[in-house]
Amino acid sequence: MEITEVRVFPKEGADKKLKAYVTVTFDSCFVVRNIKIIDGKDHVFIAMPSKKLRFACQQCHYKNETESRFCNKCGTALPLVREEDLERTADAKLQHRDIAHPITKDFREYVQARVLEAYHRESGLFQRPSVVSMMDR
Ligand SMILES: [Zn+2]
Repeated sequence: MEITEVRVFPKEGADKKLKAYVTVTFDSCFVVRNIKIIDGKDHVFIAMPSKKLRFACQQCHYKNETESRFCNKCGTALPLVREEDLERTADAKLQHRDIAHPITKDFREYVQARVLEAYHRESGLFQRPSVVSMMDR
């Protein structure tokens, strides 16, 4: 399977870690949207589209966001998620579940390389000053 198109949608806003959304087409016939480009502390990486997990209220069965401390519908305390659990899982897999993702290391690396290549090409166009300073060296 090959990537036949990568579209980068740069994102500017409050969340500075999130640099762009990417849409990737595979073999000209299958599209995955909402791949994210994240600027981590020491490297840029991609995050596959994911779904936020929700916890059902034991009282009324309303499905609340994992961040909620009380049911948004009936106000019952939600004992499942404790403060320290939230902290520990804040940026981990527990709160988010990938919707579509590569299952082999090779393909994951291939997707990431192609996406980041497209992102760097795009961001070169958007950030003139950094390109100029790199050429000065
Ligand atoms: Zn409830």
